[in-house]
Amino acid sequence: MNRAEFVGGIAAAAFARFSGTGDDIGDPASNAQAQALRVLLGRGDAQALDAQTFLFQGRRYRGTFSRTEDGQIVSVVALEQYLYSVVSREMPHSWPGAALQAQAIVARTYVLQRSNPTRQYDLVPSEADQVYTGMDAENLQSTAAVDATAGNVLRYGDGFAQVLYSSCCGGHTESNADAWGGAPLAYLRGVPCTYCTDSHWYAWSQKLPLDQVQRSLTSSLNGLGDLTGIALDAPDASGRARFWTFTGTAGSQRVKASAVRSQLGTRTLPSLLVHRVQFDPPQPQAGRMVTIEGGGLGHGVGLCQWGARGMALSGAGARAILSYYYPGTEIGNA
Ligand SMILES: [Zn+2]
Repeated sequence: MNRAEFVGGIAAAAFARFSGTGDDIGDPASNAQAQALRVLLGRGDAQALDAQTFLFQGRRYRGTFSRTEDGQIVSVVALEQYLYSVVSREMPHSWPGAALQAQAIVARTYVLQRSNPTRQYDLVPSEADQVYTGMDAENLQSTAAVDATAGNVLRYGDGFAQVLYSSCCGGHTESNADAWGGAPLAYLRGVPCTYCTDSHWYAWSQKLPLDQVQRSLTSSLNGLGDLTGIALDAPDASGRARFWTFTGTAGSQRVKASAVRSQLGTRTLPSLLVHRVQFDPPQPQAGRMVTIEGGGLGHGVGLCQWGARGMALSGAGARAILSYYYPGTEIGNA
């Protein structure tokens, strides 16, 4: 899950659904493992292989399936069995067990926040929620991490924690309020991270033709003339600039960093943790390039996955990893 969307609030309705009835909320741990989760797979042929597995578009899935009113296939699968596949897709299975366990807890918590009884499905099987491609993706290590943490979720106060995560923070995780606005959450305030330096995303450099930058940002830079400078400005507590100021031959314009990223594209600008923007050569002339140097991949809020790997390699357990990236949270049963 690398969603750029923040969903606020605790999904009380989801909790009730996964607990069967509101009365079961006091003892939901076994329910969380037994409850069926509905994942929208899409259009295509599905065929039962036996009572517990089916085939959809050449992939084997655990559980059974149903069809929506408009004919799409919905996988109906036990939460823990769904996680076997998800954990293997969201984190490399060669990573240390404690990192995989932290990922399993986070993925489980995410599901319990997202179920939606008003829709015909709870989740989609892509990065918009969590990547789910059925049992062929499963492996021993990811399955062991799910089993070792069965029923465990991340809690804050009386509810589930909002478990945002991304690949590599680049040195400091981002606060939810700085990333998306809204009320700051204490456990998503952002922490320094020295554990993700093994990632090749920890530090990156992108060299782009200046006219590509200007073209991508046309709607924001209208009337500026030829670009002569770009300055980063108003860094937040994590070091991510909130604004980029573009100066041209006919004026200057301050643009929100998030708008710059969405207009340049998330592949061109892997994160908003940008350290330096430099024109090359410095004097105006045709064919100039812009070099953007930064760190991290993704929004940077919550768990840094490469950081979880680094902490695990230095001996931390899943509990320590999660308390570091979500300070003040606790692991409890669903
Ligand atoms: Zn990190």
